[in-house]
Amino acid sequence: MVDLQGQYAGIKDRVSASMQEVIESASFINGPEVHSFQKELETYLGVKHVIPCANGTDALQVAMMGLGLKPGDEVITADFTFAATVEVIALLGLTPVLVDVDPINFNIDLDAVARSITPRTKAIVPVHLFGLTADMEPLMALAEEHGLFVIEDNAQGIGAQYTFNDGRKMKTGTIGHVASTSFFPSKNLGCYGDGGAIFTNDDDLAHTIRGIVNHGMYQRYHHDVVGVNSRLDALQAAVLRAKLPNLDAYNAARRKAASAYTAAFKDIEGITVPSGFCGPEKGICAQCDCHVFHQYTLTIEGIDRDALVQHLNQAGIPCGVYYPIPLHAQKAYTDERYQEADFSVTNALVQSVISLPMHTELEQDQIDFITQTVIDFVNTHRNG
Ligand SMILES: *Cc1c(COP(=O)(O)O)cnc(C)c1O
Repeated sequence: MVDLQGQYAGIKDRVSASMQEVIESASFINGPEVHSFQKELETYLGVKHVIPCANGTDALQVAMMGLGLKPGDEVITADFTFAATVEVIALLGLTPVLVDVDPINFNIDLDAVARSITPRTKAIVPVHLFGLTADMEPLMALAEEHGLFVIEDNAQGIGAQYTFNDGRKMKTGTIGHVASTSFFPSKNLGCYGDGGAIFTNDDDLAHTIRGIVNHGMYQRYHHDVVGVNSRLDALQAAVLRAKLPNLDAYNAARRKAASAYTAAFKDIEGITVPSGFCGPEKGICAQCDCHVFHQYTLTIEGIDRDALVQHLNQAGIPCGVYYPIPLHAQKAYTDERYQEADFSVTNALVQSVISLPMHTELEQDQIDFITQTVIDFVNTHRNG
């Protein structure tokens, strides 16, 4: 699914040199390397504050702690996403409110969000799923109307840009009140272990969060709030500093691979290609950069998706089903308030999605082999 060795070959000297420097300086925790990465990422994103932390799940949790959310507060998020999003809501004693997603872009359905707002609602968590920006402009307007916080889960979307109606562009993770990201190795900006960060333009919130990730300390051994221990280590920051200058090129390589996949699939009956805001006919959003293709995800109709998965695996082609079970149907997150009819899109997507290999090193001959294998199967197994 990913080719981290191939990518490493291109940055080996830089990574080795900066890791060596960290080891020789022995500043393993919160040293200059972490600080430099923080500053470089702030500049890249165009955001006032980046607070590095241990992983993307902590980043979400700490963002919610920083906003002062309290047990009983309701937090609305998408039913179709990785479990980390709903997990931290539940862990903090907040009440998760799962809502359905849009069938075209797989992101949180704004009408469903609007219907789910109650007097106890405090925040909305859009996820830029698979690397496509959620529709932030109307979402921010809805949040403002109801006085809600917006926490962007940007674990899959780093580097993507959202275009507002007036033509203004902003990077995902810099539009809501606060955002989280993950540097898990397979993410678009991945380190060689765990890592994450929180972003915000709010000075007070940034200050609060900097204390929370460090045991609630704002002054050494004075613990003003309940915090956690969540740090990005300097060796990971060294890897991230070597990769950050390449992030736009990495995302462009992903978009190029996505365009090649889409060119092959777009007229095949039974296959729906992923869509950004520009639409596939305009070349996978090369114009607006709204999609950074963390995953390239097809929906399959009239063909047994699981049989296709099995066929690809037998042909030596890795593929993934993200995600096979809706969150509202997970044992840990069931709630008697949920009605199946409210999740018709997610319930259909879990049966029909399939993600193909997507990374920065895909070659045209690999893409040709993958697309031909998928198309041959689809053409011979329609309605089977
Ligand atoms: C990967 C991911 C996370 C969690 O990040 P970790 O660094 O693995 O904790 C959270 N949300 C989404 C949408 C993700 O894809």
